[in-house]
Amino acid sequence: MLTIKENEALSRIIHQHRNQNRCIGFVPTMGALHEGHLSLVRQARETCDVVVCSIFVNPTQFNDPGDLERYPRPLERDVALLENTDCAILYLPSLEAIYPAGTKPSEQDLIGPLDHLMEGAFRPGHFTGVRQVVRRLLELVAPDELFLGQKDYQQVAVIREMLRRSGSSIRLRMCPTAREQDGLAMSSRNALLTPEWRSVAPVMHQCLQQARSELGELTPRDIEERAMDTLRHAGLKPEYFSVSDGDTLEPVGDPGGHSRIVACTAAWAGKVRLIDNLMLRG
Ligand code: AMP
Repeated sequence: MLTIKENEALSRIIHQHRNQNRCIGFVPTMGALHEGHLSLVRQARETCDVVVCSIFVNPTQFNDPGDLERYPRPLERDVALLENTDCAILYLPSLEAIYPAGTKPSEQDLIGPLDHLMEGAFRPGHFTGVRQVVRRLLELVAPDELFLGQKDYQQVAVIREMLRRSGSSIRLRMCPTAREQDGLAMSSRNALLTPEWRSVAPVMHQCLQQARSELGELTPRDIEERAMDTLRHAGLKPEYFSVSDGDTLEPVGDPGGHSRIVACTAAWAGKVRLIDNLMLRG
């Protein structure tokens, strides 16, 4: 695995692969890697010749400075984990390499309807930062395929919309959520949970599964209410539990008219904010 920090070196090597007609797959991450990230690398290698993985903790997508400060950064361990995969290039840019003109988002970042729902509502500016960094990384890596995790379902929808609006030919692949044995979605933030909160956190996945079994029996609003109650009962502080259209992410009224339905939730486990989702239909 080649570790690259400079943009020029990155574009040189990407150019070489392009000249050989190799398909380039890209897995952007913020590090503190776990099996979820590694599964993205594996899936990228299934359809692409060259896998590029980036580690960059993007400050512009953190709406809470404390969250940015606490975000784990075990770089040596990350490099060792990636060495054991088929990742060909690890791109480790500096803040200046990504934002040479400063971190202010550009005018071209138009806010869409997805920015006002769920994560967008509770983390103002988050998706502006996500689009900003992904747009820049795609410019630098110029991949054929982009691999994102279903764990961040709304993020995938936001990036899909961004690619569509810009007429990009990059293929977006959404990869399944990797989970711990007890159902908790793997997340870099899980490392910050105390043992007590770690034992409570799987309730989120249980509520999502419960919602799947209730669809068709209860109304979406009743499903949401019951789930919020269960989460609170377990001691978590839920921000939302939403039964949403799988494409628009708008709340579902009558499930009859929707071919894809997803339940998404965010909750605080002590000082750690966790998110998860599950397809209920489609
Ligand atoms: P992050 O480092 O949290 O920004 O995540 C980098 C990529 O890994 C994103 O596309 C995430 O959706 C994906 N990812 C994070 N956790 C998981 C997981 N448990 N399963 C699958 N993909 C994940």
